[in-house]
Amino acid sequence: MSADPISVLRATFGFSGFRGVQEQVVERVLSGRNTLAVMPTGAGKSLTYQLPAVAMPGTCLVISPLIALMHDQLRAAEAVGIRAATLTSVDDNREETVARYRRGELDLLYVAPERASSEGFRNLLRAAPLSLFAIDEAHCVSEWGHDFRPDYRLLRPMLDMFPDVPRLALTATADAHTRADILEQLGIPQDGLIVAGFDRPNIRYHIAPRDSVTRQVEAVLAEQPGPGIVYAPTRAGVERLAEKLGAKGRPVLPYHAGLDPEVRRRNQAAFVASEEMVVVATVAFGMGIDKPDVRFVVHAGLPKSIEGYYQETGRAGRDGDPAVAHLFWGADDFARARSRIGEVEAHRQQGERTRLDALAGLVETAGCRRAVLLRHFGEDPPETCGNCDNCLSPPKVADATQVARKLLSAVYRTGQSYGIGHIEKVLTGANDDRVTERRHDQLSVYGIVGGEEAALIRPVSRALQARGSLIATEHGGLKLAGDAREILKGEARIEIVVPPKRERRRRDGASA
Ligand code: ADP
Ligand code: ZN
Repeated sequence: MSADPISVLRATFGFSGFRGVQEQVVERVLSGRNTLAVMPTGAGKSLTYQLPAVAMPGTCLVISPLIALMHDQLRAAEAVGIRAATLTSVDDNREETVARYRRGELDLLYVAPERASSEGFRNLLRAAPLSLFAIDEAHCVSEWGHDFRPDYRLLRPMLDMFPDVPRLALTATADAHTRADILEQLGIPQDGLIVAGFDRPNIRYHIAPRDSVTRQVEAVLAEQPGPGIVYAPTRAGVERLAEKLGAKGRPVLPYHAGLDPEVRRRNQAAFVASEEMVVVATVAFGMGIDKPDVRFVVHAGLPKSIEGYYQETGRAGRDGDPAVAHLFWGADDFARARSRIGEVEAHRQQGERTRLDALAGLVETAGCRRAVLLRHFGEDPPETCGNCDNCLSPPKVADATQVARKLLSAVYRTGQSYGIGHIEKVLTGANDDRVTERRHDQLSVYGIVGGEEAALIRPVSRALQARGSLIATEHGGLKLAGDAREILKGEARIEIVVPPKRERRRRDGASA
């Protein structure tokens, strides 16, 4: 029989006790039942299969989607004396690993999902006893998940060939829909779902529209000591921002997939060792890095999903000390994301749309950010947290239904091909050559927005783009979409957060 979990926890891992749901997951796995553990990043997922792998006879097969991640895990496991190996296309010790497996000398064997479909590999698995299947990043099995990988669909037939070997699926990021799908796809019963608390109370969330992103990120750096990560959406954006921020005297390094691997390795190592370094990176940075004292994470553009946002901001403050997360978003981020939806396979578009709507809800809310996040992960949080921008200084909310109707009407009447600059001129009755040339001064919408309302035109346009009622075409012209007709007919109420005064005059969504 297997060894006592607490003594393995102490002897092998050197920890004094379990954290959160770890004990519950480990107990269920040791009793041989199929389980899906949803635990946020940093909650200690690896231990929930590594400990059973050590405690139970036989080898635990770990399915993992990324070779780099596997090698990180391998190093960590070997460091505490666990007998582990990876079997991937880049390993040149494959024969030795196979021999060790056959002799029953491995507690852990890491493989990529595509191996599961290979006849040869399945035969190898039969050659020695298995203790457990651990399926890491299990959301990859679901088309509802934010990172579907067809290879994960190959797992089920392999798992079913070993009905006596328990399955432990692990993920940090799964909304209710995705969770149900993972259970179904991997043959795990409903009562096998164990969800850890997602709240990260020491992280303070700030979300604001982008005006001049360099200036905004500089302001964060100026008031925020300690190591931090700034996420930029593209490689070019990373380079640009790193250069500008570096000129301010703080040590700043770039990190993205286009850099030489040696430079990447060096920059990452410098960051991990530093107490003040700022890394400007694409989202790949941070995976597999265990740096507990990251004090801030900045998103200079919209993340891919709420899951992505939670995961990336979750790299801050793992030591439990106060940390902040800033997100600067623009209407153009939503425009790009919505146009990309058109490019994915038809049956996945609804999922993508739902994901984007959830993000729009997070950035547009006048309420508590944490409450939106936690509700997304299926929790029932209090209405206010006291540690996000909106809780700390509740924003002014305006009923913008009338401005939204006038704006949509102007877009429609000018032929759905002009950008917000032109529409604003028409609505405010500007004396402008282009407006008169096109005879837009003859339209009923010319000059119908004045006074205080004029300041709401751009924020409303941003809000309508975020919720998909307005979309920008590739030439920057605005078009009606989504529920625009209901808004025009006065059937939907539009509320917006009134931005602080200084932002009103700046160009919407302009970047660095
Ligand atoms: P995840 O995969 O969920 O992001 P990891 O498995 O990488 O998290 O664990 C995060 C960190 O927490 C690691 O440094 C790990 O050593 C540590 N850890 C895990 N379990 C415990 C525990 N019971 N007590 C103390 N530290 C733990
Ligand atoms: Zn709050």
